Amino acid sequence: MINSRFVTLIIKDSNYIPIFARIPTLIGMNKLSKRIEALSESQTIKMARMSRELKSKGIDIINLSLGEPDFPTPSHIKEAATKAIEDNFSYYTAVAGIEPLRKAISEKFKRDNGLDYAPSQIVCSTGAKQSIANVALCLLNPEDEVLIPTPYWVSYGEIVKLAEAKPVFVETTIENKFKITAKQLDEALTEKTKLFIFSAPSNPTGSIYSQTELAELVKVFEKYPNCFILSDEIYEYINYVGKHESIASFDSIKDRVIVVNGFSKAFAMTGWRIGYMAGPQWIADAVDKMQGQFTSATCSITQMAATVAYDDMTPTFEMREAFQRRKDLTIKMVSDIPGIITYDPDGAFYLFPDVKSYFGKSYNGKKIKNSTDLALFILKEGHVALVTGDAFGSPNCIRISFATSEENLIEAFTRLKNTLALLN
Ligand code: PMP
Ligand code: GLU
Repeated sequence: MINSRFVTLIIKDSNYIPIFARIPTLIGMNKLSKRIEALSESQTIKMARMSRELKSKGIDIINLSLGEPDFPTPSHIKEAATKAIEDNFSYYTAVAGIEPLRKAISEKFKRDNGLDYAPSQIVCSTGAKQSIANVALCLLNPEDEVLIPTPYWVSYGEIVKLAEAKPVFVETTIENKFKITAKQLDEALTEKTKLFIFSAPSNPTGSIYSQTELAELVKVFEKYPNCFILSDEIYEYINYVGKHESIASFDSIKDRVIVVNGFSKAFAMTGWRIGYMAGPQWIADAVDKMQGQFTSATCSITQMAATVAYDDMTPTFEMREAFQRRKDLTIKMVSDIPGIITYDPDGAFYLFPDVKSYFGKSYNGKKIKNSTDLALFILKEGHVALVTGDAFGSPNCIRISFATSEENLIEAFTRLKNTLALLN
């Protein structure tokens, strides 16, 4: 029997991926677990895959889909990796990471966040994504609810589903810069809420909570002592408005906060695969045990490289300045396209504008019904890869990553403007 997911794949991808390429998926369909059947493919990864496939066919695609810095990894990190290879540092390490790395992260918490985490409370992984999954799998039971403000990062809801818990979404508004208010939080939390997950600076909106705004949320969390908080701080250093504030800095709830962070964004190390969590010792111990059965430690060479990363933040701050220039340029160019409602993000390297004025318009008899149609239309006709807002729980928006050169951005927005003008 052909199930609905396969039909969706054919419909959604038919212009781009030959149907025969999907035959292996069809053959395996009824044999896979319910768990994987229920899981959606990551839309960020899907758009990146589709643009790679089109590029391999010789089509000149500008990829503004994936959030990854286009800068080289800083030299001090690369040198440490080279040395580790030459020193034959090639073997399994402790699952949670080598001691010097965990010590360096512990010192960074003290230096940059004023937080005390002993190295034993830190577990390194193959990326922040794995750390989030580790925490979810360690804390959640099937009947648990997980509160996630919308727009959310693409993988939160799916990871929660993998852990067999129930994601509950709370919609934020562009008027409140896509931040959940204390009132919304109070209304949404229940005795069943085991975990609250958010990112700040946020992917996809770039929103940042001030210390005062966090304090208001903390007052609400104090009323719900069974709720844990997973604070995804991977964009910590891509902050255009000031110093990073962590919700872990509030003593009244610190024993319920798990901070997730990583090196992908701050040090342009997306391919090196390293992230970490820090939290109460008993959660770190559980995560260590979980990871010991799944993947063991991340790459030994990557760990040696990451150990020196926080020693020199100059390249990180230079990248941030470049991102800021790109942000300003992107906003200027987006504002020049009719029908797009945008705003100025405080952090990260994404713009998440409202594009609903294009829904209902057509090109060559084909109607744009939603953000997914619009993203596919822009990819096919304009050769620019963006990500549908649906992937982040906001169907009226579209995500644009500006982590690419100004030259690429200028060309991408020229294409975007011309392509959108085809719709009527
Ligand atoms: N959290 C957020 C908010 C992200 O944007 C990403 C994507 N990099 C991750 C986690 C995962 O990062 P990593 O590369 O460390 O797995
Ligand atoms: N986090 C990046 C993004 O949102 C990379 C892709 C992914 O890990 O999903 O684009």
